[in-house]
Amino acid sequence: MRMPLIAGNWKMNGSLALVDTFGRAFADASLPEKVEVALMVPFPYLGAATQALKDGGVAVGAQTLNDHLSGAFTGEVSGAMLTDLSVRYVLVGHSERRSLFGEDDAAVVARVKAALVSGLAPLLCLGETLEEHDAERTEAVVLGQLGAVLDALEPAERGCLVIAYEPVWAIGTGRTASPAQAQAVHAAIRDCLRRYDNALAEGMRLLYGGSMKAGNAAELLAQPDIDGGLVGGASLQVDDFLAICQSAG
Ligand code: PEP
Repeated sequence: MRMPLIAGNWKMNGSLALVDTFGRAFADASLPEKVEVALMVPFPYLGAATQALKDGGVAVGAQTLNDHLSGAFTGEVSGAMLTDLSVRYVLVGHSERRSLFGEDDAAVVARVKAALVSGLAPLLCLGETLEEHDAERTEAVVLGQLGAVLDALEPAERGCLVIAYEPVWAIGTGRTASPAQAQAVHAAIRDCLRRYDNALAEGMRLLYGGSMKAGNAAELLAQPDIDGGLVGGASLQVDDFLAICQSAG
């Protein structure tokens, strides 16, 4: 049985006041017992978020990390610094990192490895662009991104991943993949995992991301291979995010 995970990605948004609002709201909320919640906040808020969210049982995640463990990399943050702050998850391969910061598959692999060495759980994002979608290349692109990471890891390391399928054309656009479209890609991802190991495929949590909101979450989360959501815009509104968490129970 896979425990659903709802992860919010604030991107470069939010404030200390919003961290506090979420801390109080989650401490007071009664969420379904069998749902895990995580919030990926910007670096400067990680320390405050781990404190504010611990009573509400919300795990804290970062949005990226450097692939080196330490050294002369001005402005960068290492995995060990994140674990020092009790951070549990880190996004790797988000489409904004791939497109805006030039992170290719090799950079994604290096970051996944750095996360694992530091004891973080990498939340690996996969997804095709609109052009690739229209050219019916979705599976080829998504499974290619997945294979690049799986092939570079030891079998035991693969089990530490969480995967998010996020069609790029659905991120921040208000356009969501239909539940059937999302399910089809999730099933293809799980089939691909089966080629590595059956237990890996059955245990791996596959999240959907791309304009998930309170109004469409239940239908997406009801699909057999969708084990949670990666939520951008709607994770900045505490009531919307709470409603999505409730619908995963
Ligand atoms: C995201 O940034 O990972 C995301 C899914 O964003 P949104 O929910 O706003 O589409």
